[in-house]
Amino acid sequence: MHSLKVKTSARSQALDITRQVAEVVAAAGVNSGWCEVFVPHTTAAVAVNEAADPAVMADLLAALERLVPWQGDYRHTEGNAAAHVKSVLVGGTVRLPVSGGRLSLGTWQGVFFLEFDGPRNRQAWVEVL
Ligand code: ZN
Repeated sequence: MHSLKVKTSARSQALDITRQVAEVVAAAGVNSGWCEVFVPHTTAAVAVNEAADPAVMADLLAALERLVPWQGDYRHTEGNAAAHVKSVLVGGTVRLPVSGGRLSLGTWQGVFFLEFDGPRNRQAWVEVL
């Protein structure tokens, strides 16, 4: 299991971690299998989506903000209830194909660490199976 360090710089942010995940896969020596990325946090998430146009992730963050506003009628008193909800909606795990010893993604796809309560020092755990 590899732990990638992820340093976020805003409350809501999408960080492209594709290159770091691909490096772990390339070093694993697994020809054909799966790469799992797990985010061990309750106010962050991981997702696969378009990496070519940064506007796509900006739109996603804005849409999540409209769906789950920071201020609201929440019972969690820590003040970051919206971040917990977004974390569950997006999810904390992705499974990615490994083919020919390399991370295998669609042409426009990238792997994104999604921060919902930053800035913080975060981790993403990567396992190649
Ligand atoms: Zn909380």
